[in-house]
Amino acid sequence: MTLANLFALAMIIGVNVVVRMLFPNELELFMEAELSDAILRKNTVRDVVLGNRILANERVLDGFGHVSIRSPVDPDRFFLSRSRSPEIVTDSDIMEFDLDGIQISEDARKPYAERFIHAAIYAARPDINSVSHHHAPAVIPFSLSDVQLRPAFHMAAVIGGSVPIWDSQHEFGDTNMLVDSLEMGRSLARTLGNESTALLRGHGAICAGADVRALCAISVYMRDNAELILRTLPIGLSQYLTEGEIEKTRATLLADMPLDRAWDYWIARAGFSGM
Ligand SMILES: [Zn+2]
Repeated sequence: MTLANLFALAMIIGVNVVVRMLFPNELELFMEAELSDAILRKNTVRDVVLGNRILANERVLDGFGHVSIRSPVDPDRFFLSRSRSPEIVTDSDIMEFDLDGIQISEDARKPYAERFIHAAIYAARPDINSVSHHHAPAVIPFSLSDVQLRPAFHMAAVIGGSVPIWDSQHEFGDTNMLVDSLEMGRSLARTLGNESTALLRGHGAICAGADVRALCAISVYMRDNAELILRTLPIGLSQYLTEGEIEKTRATLLADMPLDRAWDYWIARAGFSGM
């Protein structure tokens, strides 16, 4: 069949029908791939909502702070809500960004000023697929003193043995304290290095996980660890977990079984039981 005949046929019976006749297997594979990408995106958007709702419900986030997830379809992109309180984020609030913090789609709604935190961490850390930024009051004293936030109880082993402190004053002088440029995000990501958490002096913290379940565990237990240390200090803090205890406990807790169990628990507490 000549190209002209093919074109005429397409005009009569439709392009879709002709393509299906010529490339039945390829079309099916293409449609399956498109469908699975669409499902992956939909599930990821739902998980961004759940991550925000969970950390708001657990009082790690208040009216501010956010949770993002790297796109499973394109690793150079991530999903984050438009600028609104995490406790009320829904599917329709989720926007897609590239690793410079630039919004992908046309959308007049306002993004978070601190989206650059997420962009810079995803760019620097291929092993990280979910990020939170929070201002939990319990962690902030550790950005202002020499008392370390390292794990003092077993569940906090998920945060790892070191919690570096980023001080915006060092590179940027007097600012409004927000990480509202890519330059600042990259500076913060350099301080994070290969760790799971970092403190922002006089501001809050960032947490980074291999997936959103790990991210929630790291965020919740970072806050719980801070509260336990603050409660221990008045009676004398003499022990943290050892490096070996942190390593072994962390490997145990960041496995699928404990993460699924914790995720189900947090989902139920946030009012989404059965999802
Ligand atoms: Zn902040």
